[in-house]
Amino acid sequence: MGAEALAGKVVVVTGGSRGIGFAIASLLAEDGAAVVVSGRDAARLVRASEEIEALGGTAVGVVADVVSRQDADRLVDTARERFGRIDILVNNAGITRDGLLVRMKDADWDEVIGVNLRGAFLMMRAVSKTMVRQRSGRIINIASTAGAMGNAGQVNYSAAKAGLIGMTKAAARELAHWGILVNAVAPGLIETDMTAAMSAEAREALLAQVPLRRIGTSRDVAEMVRFLAGEGAAYVTGQVFHVNGGLYM
Ligand code: NDP
Repeated sequence: MGAEALAGKVVVVTGGSRGIGFAIASLLAEDGAAVVVSGRDAARLVRASEEIEALGGTAVGVVADVVSRQDADRLVDTARERFGRIDILVNNAGITRDGLLVRMKDADWDEVIGVNLRGAFLMMRAVSKTMVRQRSGRIINIASTAGAMGNAGQVNYSAAKAGLIGMTKAAARELAHWGILVNAVAPGLIETDMTAAMSAEAREALLAQVPLRRIGTSRDVAEMVRFLAGEGAAYVTGQVFHVNGGLYM
């Protein structure tokens, strides 16, 4: 792909301040897009946007919690006011609150569904108004292997990610009329703060099931998003792309 494949495009990446979201924002900025990254921690957002700008990109950080409708709307408004349009939304913000079903607290269920599923819904609804007017757009939802195969200790997270996959397909059908493509990327085991929090045993047990025998990088996931954001993916919508080293086939 050419260095400026996304020149003139505007991207919003929720949870773009670290981990997979930051890798996505950096790569799309490298391709020439202006990126708006969101998260709850202001200092981390400043660092992330400064890092992207230091590499020659254009980046703006916006403090916004995806579970808040006001914040989601403000994030979209800020991107539009600043850059005039929104071409690509990456719903990446996500959390885990793991625990066995029998012991799971109501709050663990509500928070995980809130951030991973309701957050993506709020952002998709807010951004699609702009994309419908433009008659073009790309929405890329970061799901998870857990949403396709389930993961013990993650009924909340697996449900949220499976829900995100269903929402991706329904929105793809609704929005195709306006030239808006909606896809999901489902990462497997990826090295970030989220997986650093796992126990060594749980990590090793999962890694033993990965045919490629290594943990994935944020860059591995970002490369798939880069493809889906680009011209080459013009005939692709309503699909789930697994980036997992073969963990789930
Ligand atoms: P990290 O925990 O490393 O980063 C999460 C990002 O989301 C941070 O930028 C965080 O910023 C932001 N975030 C969290 N909650 C909110 C919120 N309520 N509103 C706005 N931003 C929020 O996670 P990963 O990079 O590992 O994960 C990114 C995505 O990939 C998630 O959707 C995750 O479920 C998915 N995924 C990850 C896998 C992995 O192995 N790492 C595997 C499969 C899927 P802040 O804390 O400042 O708000």
